[in-house]
Amino acid sequence: MVSAQDNSQLSSGGFVLSLDLELMWGVYGTHSIASYGQNILGARQAVPAMLDLFEAQGISATWACVGLLMFENRAALRAALPYRRPQFSNARDDSYAFVDAVGPDEASDPYHFGLSLVREIADRPHQELATHTFSHFYCLEDQLDVPAFAADIDAAIAAFEPVNVRPRSIVFPRNQVTRDALAVCAARGIDVYRGPGPFRMDRPAGRAQQSTWRRGMRLANSYVPLCGPAVVDVAHEGDVINIPASRFLRPFSGGAMAPARMHIGLIKREMAQAARQNRMFHLWFHPHNFGTCTDENLALLAEIITFWRSLHDRFGWPSRTMAQAADAARNTATQMPGAA
Ligand SMILES: [Zn+2]
Repeated sequence: MVSAQDNSQLSSGGFVLSLDLELMWGVYGTHSIASYGQNILGARQAVPAMLDLFEAQGISATWACVGLLMFENRAALRAALPYRRPQFSNARDDSYAFVDAVGPDEASDPYHFGLSLVREIADRPHQELATHTFSHFYCLEDQLDVPAFAADIDAAIAAFEPVNVRPRSIVFPRNQVTRDALAVCAARGIDVYRGPGPFRMDRPAGRAQQSTWRRGMRLANSYVPLCGPAVVDVAHEGDVINIPASRFLRPFSGGAMAPARMHIGLIKREMAQAARQNRMFHLWFHPHNFGTCTDENLALLAEIITFWRSLHDRFGWPSRTMAQAADAARNTATQMPGAA
């Protein structure tokens, strides 16, 4: 019989948590500092609290950071901008349109600069720093400009120099992933990505394809499992490993707690199923989702993590970063009979 500890070594499953750290750079498509600035400031408070929680409970998490926020000041940011930039038909998709408006440094402009947060993540145990592209680049809003995307990823990798990290994993903004974009990343050693969720309405799509039906289905499916359980498996896709998302952790934003309780209940049931079957449950969200009702959202996250601990103790179901999940899948593949 396999003990809980052995089980965790052999399985490529586990609880994967990924967070997209982007400050204002990820929300210009729908928000401004006036409408969303408080959430961004709240997110800055939530990040250290999440790190404390992860450290206390032994959680490994992946933090996918937008490169534009990883600078000391405006001069350093401007010096690092790629020469070739994407041309989007919708001006709000173009982060570079907002670069001229940034303040001198992080102290004066906490909406755009967040290198201190990245340093704090790098200093904590078991946390992976990954890229969310340099400019929050959208690969499906217009025809992908491959050289511009390659320049973006080169700039994203260079932005990690202050923390001395070479990123291995990527989260594509709006989960807009294409084969060409994956090839650009793999050629630069970034060969792990967060794929879209398991349901039809999760398939990668540009804004034009995001119908009301699709959004409504996604919302309803957060509370009741309309499309089956969001338990997933690592997928080997040539040189690249896909760590598919299971669910977006929908934040509590005030009002009645009952919907949030339904959502958390569904997540816990699916985690339990994944643990019993040695499969994966991959939860993701943005720190800025915790920017309001921060205490309530941290309490809900703590409840999920406490539940993970009970599953870990019972089934040996590990907590893994995206890169760790990919390594475990590669190791499992090489140990299979007939593997090279
Ligand atoms: Zn994003």
